[in-house]
Amino acid sequence: MFEEQKSHFDTGDPSTALLVHQHEVSPCACCSPVFAELAQTMSVPDEELTDPAFWRKKNRCTGQAVRNAILINAKVLTVDESFSEASALAIKDGKIVAVGDDASVKAAADDDAEIIDCQGKIVLPGFIEPHMHFFPIAAIGRYEDIGPFRYPTVEGALSRLRSLAENAAPNEWIMGRQFDPSLQEGGEELTRDQLDTVSTTNAVFVYNASLHFGYCNSKALEIAGVSKDTPDDPSSPYGRDDDGEPNGVLKGGKAIGSVMMHNTDQRTYDLAEGCLDVCTKANAVGITTFCDQGTGLVQGVKELDIYRALAESGSMTARLRYSLSYALQDGFDKTGVAYGDGDEVIRATGWKIVSDGSNQGYSGLQREPYLHSDDKGIAYVEASQLTEMVLDRAGKGWPIVIHANGDQAIDNTLDAFEAAFDAGLLTNTPCRIEHCSILHDEQIERISKMGLSPSFLIGHVYYWGQVMRDKIFGEAKAALLDRTASCERKGIRWTLHSDEPVTDMGPLRCIENAVSRIMWKEPDSQLAPDECISVESAIRAMTRDAAWQCHSDHEIGSLEAGKFADFVILDKDPREVPVTEISQIRVLQTWMGGRKVFPL
Ligand SMILES: [Zn+2]
Ligand SMILES: [Zn+2]
Repeated sequence: MFEEQKSHFDTGDPSTALLVHQHEVSPCACCSPVFAELAQTMSVPDEELTDPAFWRKKNRCTGQAVRNAILINAKVLTVDESFSEASALAIKDGKIVAVGDDASVKAAADDDAEIIDCQGKIVLPGFIEPHMHFFPIAAIGRYEDIGPFRYPTVEGALSRLRSLAENAAPNEWIMGRQFDPSLQEGGEELTRDQLDTVSTTNAVFVYNASLHFGYCNSKALEIAGVSKDTPDDPSSPYGRDDDGEPNGVLKGGKAIGSVMMHNTDQRTYDLAEGCLDVCTKANAVGITTFCDQGTGLVQGVKELDIYRALAESGSMTARLRYSLSYALQDGFDKTGVAYGDGDEVIRATGWKIVSDGSNQGYSGLQREPYLHSDDKGIAYVEASQLTEMVLDRAGKGWPIVIHANGDQAIDNTLDAFEAAFDAGLLTNTPCRIEHCSILHDEQIERISKMGLSPSFLIGHVYYWGQVMRDKIFGEAKAALLDRTASCERKGIRWTLHSDEPVTDMGPLRCIENAVSRIMWKEPDSQLAPDECISVESAIRAMTRDAAWQCHSDHEIGSLEAGKFADFVILDKDPREVPVTEISQIRVLQTWMGGRKVFPL
């Protein structure tokens, strides 16, 4: 199974695509089969992407100097050990030099330091997004998001595509992404017939949110030469009508690639601008550091060279930490990459292993079958192999990050960590469990005993909560989703993440979701309200504890002298607005390393 998973990453061969198809859709970017094929068609050559001079020319932040300044008249939430408050902050050479009241900070700062009056606004540590996918977002982020959070119905998504088609040039491809039938009402897939209502003269192509499926119109099939007579690759077939005509549904990386390789617009897709867009987008929501959970998915081991060039160029407006994808272990090991390689801008901090699928895709691995089903999901890695992987990486001194959604996957993950723990190998801590969606009490005990740390995809509660309760698990098991308060009671440190492109990066939205546990489709009810936590706990999860999870708490995550001057200025204190308004608080400014990066 692991060998299969490897080829699935290396070549874009979607060996799991058929399995995933049987389990409907798997909205999880951790294991998409299509990125590698996509990258081969993009415009910017590798030599440029690995050249710091190339990135230097693209720097979006050249107008902003590193400031020697004192921020006064602020409400500074330092998120230090005791969550203390201050009114002033002095910064110099990219670092914080003093925190306290206006008078003492002025006394500690240089006489010529610039004074910035914050007019009572809120200063917080820059938010840290502990789990996103950097290159995958860069590679598709420029396509139109027609997903459920913008268009709750399929018809709404189609009408958005129609308006794009009206303004398109003659040979332009109309591109969409994030279609998600688990949340968008009006059908399980997008067919050629539906997409022909968008255009019959322009090619139309839409990615499923999971990126395991694509959908296209008749024009795109025609350009690609895909017809009734085109043979199917058994691992990645074309959807077909009863008479054998392709119906526009593309199941897996090969079928998607066979159409997308004819998209000439794709050859002008600027991956470099896509990378910088990710930073800009993060800065706009107050993020100053994010962690790429699965490096290698788009450009293979070359991603390390691109990261080196980006860091050296000074063009990053957010710090990046990354976990190497274990599926590319042989290739990465040959590069000699070691824990801590890099600098304070971009740095290697772990290995990422994907142990199962996703619960909303019915591919998360469960102890008991899904509701109204005899199916228990998919182990992407068998339990014994998972243990071997963990022993191997832990033995080499690396922190480990394991994706586990279903309760059986979490059992397997805990068994694997326990083998390393008992062997005295779990030394580079914390090791993490990603999503860690369904947790039983005794699993929480084991997490606590081994000092492990979960990161929760809190959008599972907000966006999918009702679906989890009514369709996937039933009420009792859905109540075990994202157990932040139970973990906190056990003294376990945990964080929140977006997993973008699964949900959009948005720390304030994540904070609101974890505090309220309100469900999007049922705004008057909460999922497992016992698991609600305080606003301060949620802020800690997106700053201080996320820094710790990303092995960077010595330099970021709180506003304390000696740490980097990474901070965000908010219009309002998240503790002082109604819970359902936290996500609406305006991010006024974002600073990274003593330099304003938002707005530019
Ligand atoms: Zn992920
Ligand atoms: Zn994942």
